[in-house]
Amino acid sequence: MYMFKVCRCCDAIIGEIEFENIQKLKADKTMDLIGNVAYTLCPRCMKELEINQRSFYQ
Ligand SMILES: [Zn+2]
Repeated sequence: MYMFKVCRCCDAIIGEIEFENIQKLKADKTMDLIGNVAYTLCPRCMKELEINQRSFYQ
């Protein structure tokens, strides 16, 4: 069984996750597992978020 990794921001499919790795992902607090989709952020949105957070705290 595979899970899709999807960006919660731009809905881009980032990749697939093997079932054995899902337990590991559940420990990752940036991930939301819904059905067979793991919502996270793609590197591009992650970067944008970091930039936004940085400017927010300045
Ligand atoms: Zn994205």
